[in-house]
Amino acid sequence: MASFVILLGPPGVGKGTQAKIIAEKTRRAHISSGDLFRENIKNQTDLGKKAKAYLDKGELVPDDVTIDMIRDRLRQPDCQAGAILDGFPRTPAQAEALDALLMDFRVQVDLVPNLTAPASVLVDRIGGRLTCRAHSHVFHSKYDPPKVPGKCDLDGSDLYQREDDKPETVQRRIQVYMEQTAPLIEYYRHQGKIVEVDGTREVNDVTSDLMDALQKV
Ligand code: AMP
Repeated sequence: MASFVILLGPPGVGKGTQAKIIAEKTRRAHISSGDLFRENIKNQTDLGKKAKAYLDKGELVPDDVTIDMIRDRLRQPDCQAGAILDGFPRTPAQAEALDALLMDFRVQVDLVPNLTAPASVLVDRIGGRLTCRAHSHVFHSKYDPPKVPGKCDLDGSDLYQREDDKPETVQRRIQVYMEQTAPLIEYYRHQGKIVEVDGTREVNDVTSDLMDALQKV
């Protein structure tokens, strides 16, 4: 089964939701670059201070800062069996850096599912997204409401709307995705690693397609 998997796709397509499920099912580490940045911002680390302004505006954090963070994360023991990458890489330079990093570990990217959905679906999903403070569990005010309003079903912590999930920033994030990240589809298609997955369907259906694809590698 595939070990190093990148979930590619625009903001709101379901990468985070799927990455959590797939990582658990396959016992791989889940690496979310966005969660790592938010954790650092919450803890006011030097990295968090460098990243905050970019996240607030919906812009990408510079490649060198991002690559250093992911390099450190990939060196953690829980990544030895593989990892599900969610939100990284997001630029061609990051993709090249990842290839080089994995080569050092004598492994490679096995599979790159490309999750797709029209912009209207993305805006709708992000607009209602509620994120939990403790562990970044995600709910949706309309499609997946928490049992107790404002509280995470899983750990009881407060739910909040991410600053960058507000409408003014969402359009910019989708635009940044189109300009800077979408070229990676061709990068990985050349390597024969892309598998297309329709991200508009129910969570369980998307998971089942992803698991099928992973098992074939
Ligand atoms: P996400 O949680 O994946 O939507 O990411 C939230 C924000 O974190 C993005 O809008 C960027 O500001 C930053 N970010 C996450 N991953 C990356 C990355 N690979 N490269 C640069 N910035 C990133």
